[in-house]
Amino acid sequence: MSLVLLQGGRVVDPTNNRDEIADVLLSDGKIQSIAPDLMTPDGTEVIDCQGQVVCPGLIDLHVHFREPGQTAKEDIATGAAAAATGGFTTVVCMPNTTPTIDNPATVKLIQERAAAAAPVNVYVTGTITLGIAGEELSPIGSLKDAGVVAITDDGKCVQNNELMRRALEYAGMFDLPVMDHCQDYSIVTDGVMHEGYWSTNLGLKGWPAAGEDLIVARNIEL
Ligand SMILES: [Zn+2]
Repeated sequence: MSLVLLQGGRVVDPTNNRDEIADVLLSDGKIQSIAPDLMTPDGTEVIDCQGQVVCPGLIDLHVHFREPGQTAKEDIATGAAAAATGGFTTVVCMPNTTPTIDNPATVKLIQERAAAAAPVNVYVTGTITLGIAGEELSPIGSLKDAGVVAITDDGKCVQNNELMRRALEYAGMFDLPVMDHCQDYSIVTDGVMHEGYWSTNLGLKGWPAAGEDLIVARNIEL
């Protein structure tokens, strides 16, 4: 049996309404007890956590690990290492890679790279539309079979209402969440900041709030 004591950290766990300075004793990787000033047997590995937060692994629902195709920016190994360093134990990858994640083979590639190189859980999303082009639906059932956890066109928004209606219907059939970047392109056009006093003051083209609200309302209605 291996014992590890995380000593003197700020233990935060909202689920159990806990926020206190305490020790956490791990036995074979599982939490055995949490209390201030725990006594431990000889041979326990002690890790000084003073000034650090000890909490359940964080989850990031929107990461870009850029693999395949854009690994000059990031790859699964470097992105996952950065996640682990920041306390994130689970991440969800966006599908705007090159090629985009609109087919089972690309899902498989990422799963295999993650299994070989990532110290955290790496989940994959598929695109709503082929190539994130907003014109044809991706094979949503095949993506689900391959293991995607949601569909999304990442930073793009499906403008065609009928296409989005079909996407939501299929996603419902396959029990897949849809993550949408809500933006009506005809209203937002080339705005660069929130439309209001400061956009006028600075002479910068604004994004009206309606450009987001309309798509949120559409999606709820659909
Ligand atoms: Zn994104």
